[in-house]
Amino acid sequence: TSFSEICFSSPALIENIKRCKYLKPTPIQRYAIPVAMAGRDLMACAQTGSGKTAAFCFPIISGILMANQKYKRFSNPHSIACPLALILAPTRELSCQIYEEAKKFSYQTGVKVVVAYGGAPIFQQLRNLGNGVDILVATPGRLVDMIERERVSLKNIKYLALDEADRMLDMGFEPQVRRIVQQMEMPPPCARQTLLFSATFPNEIQRLASDFLSNYIFVAA
Ligand code: AMP
Repeated sequence: TSFSEICFSSPALIENIKRCKYLKPTPIQRYAIPVAMAGRDLMACAQTGSGKTAAFCFPIISGILMANQKYKRFSNPHSIACPLALILAPTRELSCQIYEEAKKFSYQTGVKVVVAYGGAPIFQQLRNLGNGVDILVATPGRLVDMIERERVSLKNIKYLALDEADRMLDMGFEPQVRRIVQQMEMPPPCARQTLLFSATFPNEIQRLASDFLSNYIFVAA
């Protein structure tokens, strides 16, 4: 199986995958990407190092490019940013890793990626948001802060990915995660697509899946 078989009609993305020297999909990519590309909600069992980042990034980037959901970007640093996709991660390190990968995958596509995490000054992150954002990679606490400051709105979110959801709960982020997801409740058919990635599946994760996902497909690799 090759990436061009399972993925995308976007030549720019295929080009970037080649540039990253990804020759063939890892198992989780092979199972998760076609499901996500078909627009289905997904619960995926994936460990660190399995290639999970690409498994949720490729369908999101491809979806944004295919729908050509370009909106008027805000160059005013004080206006409110309305990303199309949100990737939530438990830690600064993970959010930065995802950000770096997502930037490589969206190179020269026009898709803008911004990262926001706690434990660092918010000012520069807000300024980055002000320069336009399609995909926001964030830790839950910092994102809640930005929402409260009315610098981010989740009303345009079409894609939500939760990475290492079990770790997010272990770290006590469940209230923040639930608050964030509540901000993007939209009635069908304009509802968002949700991709939940977790290494383990305790009851709390299954509850999260039944609360956040609709009619989802489970994949494990
Ligand atoms: P992840 O599990 O997403 O953190 O990925 C682990 C590492 O594998 C990262 O350095 C990725 O860049 C790399 N990687 C992911 N998918 C592939 C692939 N299909 N081919 C080669 N390397 C990959």
